[in-house]
Amino acid sequence: MTGRLDIPGFRPFHAHVASREKISESFVRIVFASPEFSRLGTDGCDQRIKILFPLPGGRWGDPHLFDPESVAQGMWYQQWKALDNDDRNPVRTYTIRKADPENGEMTVEFVSHSNPGPAGTFAQQCRIGDEVVIIGPDASSRHSDLGIDFRPGPSRHLLLMGDETAVPAISSILEHLHDSAWQGSGLALTEVPRKSDFRTLRMPSHFRMYQTATDGHKGASLLERLKTLAASGAAGFTPDRDQTGERIADVEDLSDADFLWEVPPQGPDDGLYAWVAGEASMVRSLRRFLVGNLGLDRHRIAFMGYYREGKREI
Ligand SMILES: Cc1cc2nc3c(=O)[nH]c(=O)nc-3n(C[C@H](O)[C@H](O)[C@H](O)COP(=O)(O)OP(=O)(O)OC[C@H]3O[C@@H](n4cnc5c(N)ncnc54)[C@H](O)[C@@H]3O)c2cc1C
Repeated sequence: MTGRLDIPGFRPFHAHVASREKISESFVRIVFASPEFSRLGTDGCDQRIKILFPLPGGRWGDPHLFDPESVAQGMWYQQWKALDNDDRNPVRTYTIRKADPENGEMTVEFVSHSNPGPAGTFAQQCRIGDEVVIIGPDASSRHSDLGIDFRPGPSRHLLLMGDETAVPAISSILEHLHDSAWQGSGLALTEVPRKSDFRTLRMPSHFRMYQTATDGHKGASLLERLKTLAASGAAGFTPDRDQTGERIADVEDLSDADFLWEVPPQGPDDGLYAWVAGEASMVRSLRRFLVGNLGLDRHRIAFMGYYREGKREI
């Protein structure tokens, strides 16, 4: 889009459920529709959004959410925080699986997890026509790529790793790389609850994808697969430094944090760039191995440990 404006990158879109499909045992694909999506950003990759879910009775707590001034100033979050608890619509973070402004649609893939909060419950129970408010990228803004953390820069060797919540983002990244004729090689490692959740994706020809099913301990199969690939030399990991000294501090400084969000501005060179997302303790153990054991510089890796088993998002 030409002539993009210096306005907030995200805006609220009032949308409704157009279709709901269980695509595998653990995933539900929902297509949301809205005439407002004609100005939905399409920067793609791991573009995150916020979804506000209705309060009981289908209520929306913020009467000023769509006031033109509030939209123009990007005030939704400050307004949401200022509300009484009872008036705050539950909000959760998701990834755009497909943005289709021409048809006024956006697709999101929801994990059906065993301890669902408002988002998981909505995904399991929603009907055609049910409403949500999506805080998503505004194509009119020059900041519409705000919620994108996959920034490989000049890298020509990629590693993508994640649990089931990261599968929509990894799927979208792989398709984006394929469709943009990206030249390079890479590995995608995903862990999903069941083998029946494995999927076939469009990806660049020099990419290999390994899918594992959780073996009761989240992240264990991913870590094992990573160790095997590293030991075989097939992954082509080149240490940035030897495994002594400062790396200990690098690895341990975040060990007590609940969540882990450490995202470099972009890949620093044409070597490895890695993107790792999912449950926080799983991401932390992958970080220990990549930075601590393999000696990779953490500035070439985006770590996003964004939920914690047993803790609600907000
Ligand atoms: C940038 C980003 C992008 C994301 N993209 C997606 C996406 O495209 N699809 C997707 O499904 N999720 C995605 N997530 C994860 C999603 O936001 C969380 O899973 C969210 O907590 C689900 O909300 P809920 O209301 O169902 O559960 P909450 O009320 O937040 O939590 C209820 C309980 O469920 C647990 N829990 C939450 N998620 C899971 C899970 N997957 N498995 C097991 N236990 C869980 C919590 O720890 C808590 O104990 C993304 C998160 C981030 C930060």
